[in-house]
Amino acid sequence: MRGVYKAFGENTVLRGIDLDVHRHQVVVLIGASGSGKSTLLKTANLLEQIDDGQIFLQGEDISDPRVDVDKTRARIGVVFQQFNLFPHLTVLDNVTLANRKVHKMPKDQAEQIATDLLARIGLGDKLKDYPDRLSGGQQQRVAIVRAIASKPELLLLDEITSALDPQLVGEVLDLVTELKADGSTMVMATHEMSFARKAADLVVFLKGGVLVEQGPPEQVFGDPQHPETREFLARVH
Ligand code: ADP
Ligand code: MG
Repeated sequence: MRGVYKAFGENTVLRGIDLDVHRHQVVVLIGASGSGKSTLLKTANLLEQIDDGQIFLQGEDISDPRVDVDKTRARIGVVFQQFNLFPHLTVLDNVTLANRKVHKMPKDQAEQIATDLLARIGLGDKLKDYPDRLSGGQQQRVAIVRAIASKPELLLLDEITSALDPQLVGEVLDLVTELKADGSTMVMATHEMSFARKAADLVVFLKGGVLVEQGPPEQVFGDPQHPETREFLARVH
């Protein structure tokens, strides 16, 4: 991102964001509610148009209005806080949907990929179940698997554990850790500071739409350079 600005009416919520996300990196966004984390992720997925600046994906300016939005979105996986599964589709159909409809993959191949991924997260026996039969943690893991089934170049995760009962948070974060080990490139907004400290390659602190501070977790958590970062961390710890 280069000089990204975004306003909703009079409310400017991203103020000149410069951010580099390198391949295979996990970048964690922290900041108070309303600081712009979700908006940043939405602009990266072209769910919100930016007012100024540029967003590049592998060198291509995807914020250019002439860009093919659907094609670009197909290169980026997204998981939100609320479970995003389609309630009327089985677990298997949820996970195969994008590959079949967007990527025009043959059914067999899409189902093979989905079955393998679901087995890997221990849900191989839930293929024919509907989402409401699953726990929140299981649903959110299916949502993650659905997002990665088409091998996106980038995965955006927006407070994916915030709606979960505390005892279910761990299994979802463990899956994120596995994806990191696989080399996935992720940008993640979270309030799970201990997870951010462990898993992030880069921690980014936002306040009022300004990127106040960024650095490796040891630095941002251990020796924050900016008084606003210190103040925020003192409050959440
Ligand atoms: P965070 O995810 O860090 O809590 P958000 O990006 O959701 O922050 O919100 C940043 C600011 O943008 C807030 O002031 C919020 O009210 C505002 N905002 C977010 N989405 C919209 C929208 N669709 N319309 C108007 N204002 C919005
Ligand atoms: Mg948010």
